Amino acid sequence: DKLRLDPPEFTVKNYACQRRTPLKHNNTHLTHALELLAESAAFGENEGRSVAFTRAASVLKTLPRSVQRIEELRGLPCLGEHSLRVIKEILEYGASQEVESTRQSEQYQAMKALTGIFGVGVKTADRWYREGVRRPSDLMDSEQKLNQAQQAGLQHYKDLNTCVSKAEADAIGVIVDQAVQAVLPGAQITLTGGFRRGKESGHDVDFLITHPEEGKEEGLMPKVVNWLDTQGLLLYQKTTRNSYLESKDGPARPPSNMDRFERCFSIFKLESQSCSPPEREKSHQWKAVRVDLVVSPFSQFAFAVLGWTGSKLFERDLRRYAGQVKNMSLNSHSLFDSHQRCFLRATSEEEIFSLLGLEYIPACDRNA
Ligand code: ATP
Ligand code: MN
Ligand code: MN
Repeated sequence: DKLRLDPPEFTVKNYACQRRTPLKHNNTHLTHALELLAESAAFGENEGRSVAFTRAASVLKTLPRSVQRIEELRGLPCLGEHSLRVIKEILEYGASQEVESTRQSEQYQAMKALTGIFGVGVKTADRWYREGVRRPSDLMDSEQKLNQAQQAGLQHYKDLNTCVSKAEADAIGVIVDQAVQAVLPGAQITLTGGFRRGKESGHDVDFLITHPEEGKEEGLMPKVVNWLDTQGLLLYQKTTRNSYLESKDGPARPPSNMDRFERCFSIFKLESQSCSPPEREKSHQWKAVRVDLVVSPFSQFAFAVLGWTGSKLFERDLRRYAGQVKNMSLNSHSLFDSHQRCFLRATSEEEIFSLLGLEYIPACDRNA
């Protein structure tokens, strides 16, 4: 029949790292719905289901125009039965019952609010939920034990749930660069994460720090953090030291996506930027901003930039593609060729894509 003779409306590659995903696309009403279901599945600790909805949303983000009819999606990868059913319902009725009832549910709303506290993951939020906690304010006068991160998260809840603008990210960049130059002249900082992908706002600001002379970067993080702290710029920080070298002859670590760089999860105290003096007096004069700092040796810098630019799905698919298609293993430190049994060196992201046999995708098109 006619349907079968028509060529597919769109062609989309299987892995997110094989396709371009710009920031702005034409199907936000559909992707928001699927991403809400992905979020809800993650709250239920069903990662497989969560990734499936995320992948379906990501495929729709690559389409050059807005989908009108479900038939147009014929032949596209990553669109499972459940996702297609949700999409069809939205196309026909303007909304999906499952999405709307999830959005309204007490559990979804509580989990969203509680995981929105810095330092609180799904496991903790779920335990609190079962103990009757619904809102961050319920924690203020409860007996729940909070660790230092969670205390800071609760204290700065409002600020940390207000988007960070690009201007604020740039202002933080100036401060981080000052700190880094003060303790190690010649060190370089690079803005990574969502802002490097061209986002105009984000939930935090991510920086990668390196020095062109290999080895100079060792032990840099505590010095940077100390400088920032002395200036009164930090509301919270947790520094983790590099565990890459020492783990080599140490006990086997559990498999994890976590890399082993020296890193710091922090909350900056950012002085207000553009407020005129009278305005300043009215509102509070600074904003709490989440900042992630990572130090990389120069020889691993290209892998670190690629690994910290995201998006999370783009990274996940890069690693999956490397393993499944190329028999290689990629992380934020290196690329290992399991067939040749050797590490492949690279000094730029372009080189890494080329080693993987992938067309280069610029950061602005990695918004999968
Ligand atoms: P947002 O605007 O919400 O901050 P984002 O894409 O910058 O979006 P982040 O959570 O800041 O999201 O993560 C940025 C990048 O850093 C992602 O690509 C992620 O893969 C990487 N990343 C985050 N945490 C870790 C970690 N613990 N280990 C390795 N990589 C990480
Ligand atoms: Mn980020
Ligand atoms: Mn981050």
